[in-house]
Amino acid sequence: MFFDVTKIREDFPILNRQIYNRPLVYLDNAASTQKPRQVIDSIRQYYEYDNCNIHRGVHYLSMKATEAYEETRREIREFINAKSTGEIIFTKGATESLNLVASSFGKCYIQPGDEVITTIMEHHSNFVPWQQMCLERGATLRVPGINEQGELDLDELKCLLNEKTRLIAMTHVSNVLGTINPVKEIIALAHQHNIPVLLDGAQGVSHLPVDVQDLDCDFYCFSGHKMYAPMGTGVLYGKEKYLEEMPPYQLGGEMIRDVYIDHTTFNDLPFKFEAGTPNVEGVVGLRAAIHYLNKLGMANIAAYEEQLLVYATEKLSSVGGIRFYGTSAHKASLISFLIGDVHPYDAGMIIDKMGIAVRTGHHCAMPLMNFLKIPGTVRASFAFYNTMEEIDLLVSAILKAKEMLS
Ligand code: PLP
Repeated sequence: MFFDVTKIREDFPILNRQIYNRPLVYLDNAASTQKPRQVIDSIRQYYEYDNCNIHRGVHYLSMKATEAYEETRREIREFINAKSTGEIIFTKGATESLNLVASSFGKCYIQPGDEVITTIMEHHSNFVPWQQMCLERGATLRVPGINEQGELDLDELKCLLNEKTRLIAMTHVSNVLGTINPVKEIIALAHQHNIPVLLDGAQGVSHLPVDVQDLDCDFYCFSGHKMYAPMGTGVLYGKEKYLEEMPPYQLGGEMIRDVYIDHTTFNDLPFKFEAGTPNVEGVVGLRAAIHYLNKLGMANIAAYEEQLLVYATEKLSSVGGIRFYGTSAHKASLISFLIGDVHPYDAGMIIDKMGIAVRTGHHCAMPLMNFLKIPGTVRASFAFYNTMEEIDLLVSAILKAKEMLS
């Protein structure tokens, strides 16, 4: 398929901005993606025509808003190929999805002496909740490392599996290294030991086609804002057999069936996990984002982003003196690097002045930074609206930073 990036860019108004009198080059997509006009318009349309609280009214607007919300759930189910809409829980982002599982799964399934496995390449959102839950429940967190290429040490992971392991909670794609983990293989292995697997899909779902039934993962978590949808939206996918057993995460409206003075019964899935008034306009925007992604096709997106990654890797390699972090053959479209011994913040400041947005720092992955013995990296992360010309501009900015700082 011919990927018409010029035409695609017309859908993203912010990409026309000038920053410091230069055209914006937005390479911070792993932090958050920009939003197409279709998503922005859907929110305006919602507030101008359909705005109302959902699930609670028999009047027209309430039913209209409820229909839009529940239709999004059906489309998310289809997008990730879940079995039923009961397995799709709306949250405010990957962080909330991960906290929900850590808290609720922890209460239900983790006893003193048990073990949970995560990895050294996790974002804090998929590390701290498990660490704290293990501390609270007298369990132990096991953390396998990575090899030189930034790939998970599978032998170490295998050695850590034992009869005390209750869960593996790991990232699908690393937000620092770009590594796409061999999750299907790991899930098959874990299931041989009856161990469920949670995948943090915050960096997976916007780059790769995701089929939760094919992966056979037990939980999959992601954020809307990293997939061209509004901030404050997210999804937790979970297999019904776990979600049915797990206690509610928050209490209040929507998640109850009947409330008495001395006890409460809880609603069916997925509502048991959706207490309070949700972010309806955000979910409406998420639906527009899914339509947009489906129109482009996730396989086409993955193929084009792979071209960007190959081009950027080649160009940056030619600069000389660049240290790359994450060189796996299975990588999503981001590059983490250091320019010689230059501190990432200093490099980032100069690159910014050239109108180029890259991220610098520990990327919410301090255990990984400690493992690598570095303070942070510069990270350029690409989306399907980026171009080869923008990568050339990045390379010029890096050369400038190198010249000024060395
Ligand atoms: N997991 C990974 C791998 C991430 O990259 C991020 C955000 O960068 C998160 C979780 C947290 O996502 P959010 O802040 O949208 O909840």
